[in-house]
Amino acid sequence: MNGPPNDDGSDIRKWAARAWLEMESAGVLPTPRNFDLWFSHVSGANPDLTRQIGEILAKQPVVTAATLDDLHAMFGSPDHAMDQVADQAEAIQQAAQLFVTQLAGNGEQLQEYGNALSLWSARLSQDRTLETLLQAVSSVLAETARASERNRALEHQLSASAARITRLKDSIADLKREATVDVLTGLCNRKAFTARLRKALADAKADGSAVSLLMIDVDHFKRVNDTYGHPTGDLFLRLIGRVLSESIKGRDISARYGGEEFAVLLVKANLKAGTTVANEIRMVLEKKQIVRSKAEDQPMGITVSIGVAQFRTTETAASLIDRADVALYQAKALGRNRVCAAQ
Ligand code: GH3
Ligand code: MG
Ligand code: MG
Repeated sequence: MNGPPNDDGSDIRKWAARAWLEMESAGVLPTPRNFDLWFSHVSGANPDLTRQIGEILAKQPVVTAATLDDLHAMFGSPDHAMDQVADQAEAIQQAAQLFVTQLAGNGEQLQEYGNALSLWSARLSQDRTLETLLQAVSSVLAETARASERNRALEHQLSASAARITRLKDSIADLKREATVDVLTGLCNRKAFTARLRKALADAKADGSAVSLLMIDVDHFKRVNDTYGHPTGDLFLRLIGRVLSESIKGRDISARYGGEEFAVLLVKANLKAGTTVANEIRMVLEKKQIVRSKAEDQPMGITVSIGVAQFRTTETAASLIDRADVALYQAKALGRNRVCAAQ
């Protein structure tokens, strides 16, 4: 951590300049969103982000659009999404206000129509000459035609307002979804997972139930990308996402934790149950193959290594993740395509 910035703003200028230069050399467009991310990174405000960008740049000098999307999904400020949600909420308020104004206007017009009818009814109760009757019929007909014309216009306006409100409501739901979902796999993104993990751990602490965490990393995934290309690599990530969703139930959560890393939280599952689920996932994936288009291409498979840890009520979420990670690296060290349980 670099600590708080100097009062004279020299730190802020220094970080901004460094962020700018680093983005330039990594081929990252200095959009406000990207700048925000890089500024957090160079200022040391988010050590996880700094570590992740360091690892990415050590492997590839240019940050690809897909990697950038991942970084935003994992570390991007929720403010951008939330600003958009706030804008949409304001737009809904305005649309609702217009709706109410339209209704109120119609109420007044209906009252005018009602008044006209009462007036004629009062006159007719006293004066039933043919002439007055004819006058009443023609006037009431005209008033009715005007009222029905106004009603048609109002109906049109109201249905347009209702459609607009529905559209805005849907786009808010989409924005909220985008803020929590990993676009590639449809699983929870890291941020949403971490929040839900904290909540699940607090619940487990309160009711004393067992919770286990699986950290999953694809074996030799770089080779898959290098040999078959990034799009094929993405197909595997999607496949893993599907297998994980199918392997969990109820209140369990599966997430894309990073590039080719996944996390699964199993509620009401101790270390033994967690290890069993992890092995099932590992074996299902081991059998899956992606068949490529050309006849001479061999079907391809992948394997994963998994670390499992059971939550200790005295530890933090970060410590649980660390222990599962240590078990994961043990599984890698022991030869990959295996499950290791944390002590
Ligand atoms: P290990 O068995 O030690 O985990 O080896 P590895 O090759 O899987 O590990 P490494 O960390 O060296 O490489 C991870 C690779 O995952 C590098 C990166 O290009 C790739 N990757 C990360 N995110 C994505 C993605 O969204 N799509 C694709 N296709 N590849 C990705
Ligand atoms: Mg990895
Ligand atoms: Mg890997």
